[in-house]
Amino acid sequence: MSSPIFLTSAASRADFPDDTGREVAFAGRSNSGKSTALNSIAGVRKLARVSKTPGRTQLINFFELGSQRRLVDLPGYGFARVPAGVKARWRSLLEAYFGSRASLTGVVLTVDIRRGLTGLDEQMLEWIRPLELPLAILLTKADKLGRGAALTRAREVSARLGPGATVMRFSALQSTGVAEARAWLEARWAAGEQDLR
Ligand code: GDP
Repeated sequence: MSSPIFLTSAASRADFPDDTGREVAFAGRSNSGKSTALNSIAGVRKLARVSKTPGRTQLINFFELGSQRRLVDLPGYGFARVPAGVKARWRSLLEAYFGSRASLTGVVLTVDIRRGLTGLDEQMLEWIRPLELPLAILLTKADKLGRGAALTRAREVSARLGPGATVMRFSALQSTGVAEARAWLEARWAAGEQDLR
C-alpha cells in the first residue's frame, strides 16, 4: 500500500475533495483505537498526528494513496460531556458526508473488542446501512482478550450483523489482522476501477 498523503480537513461539504475515484471511510467511538488502526494499516504514524491535532478531531480528515484512492478518517463519537452544539455539528457533517459521496466504496468501523458493539455503534450502523456498502468491523485491542474470549466476541458481532459485514480481530500492538484489513481495503479500492477509466 502506498503511503497516504494528507489532503484536507473538512468542516462542511464545501471542503470535501472532488468526489472521484474510490474512498474508504473509518468510523468509530473515540478511544476505540481508530487512529492506531489507521496508522498500522497505512504503515505510518503521521495519520493519527494529523487527525488528533487540536481543532481537527471534529473534522473529516482525507488522505490520498496514489491515484484516486483515499482513506477518510471520520470524527470519533461518544465523547463524555460534549456540548449539544458540537453533537449537532458532528451529526450534520456526517449526514453531509454519507449523503453525498459517490466515491465511498466501503466503511470500516473500529470497535473495542472488550466492549463489543455499543448503542452508539448501532446508531452509526443504522446510518450506514441504507448505503448498502461493504462493511468491515475491526475488533481492536484484541491483545487485551484471550484467544477464546476474542473468538467468542467476533462470533457474537458477526451473528449480530449478518453476512454483509466482515468481522476481523485486530491488534496494532501485535499486528493481528493488519494484513487482512489491508487486503479488504485494496479490494474496496479496486472495486469497479475499470468503470472509472
Ligand atoms: P481513537 O480515539 O479511536 O483514535 O483511539 P486511539 O487510536 O487513540 O487509541 C485509544 C487507546 O487505545 C490508546 O491508549 C491506544 O494506545 C490504545 N490502543 C489502540 N490500539 C491498541 C491495541 O491494538 N492494543 C492495545 N493494547 N492498546 C491499543
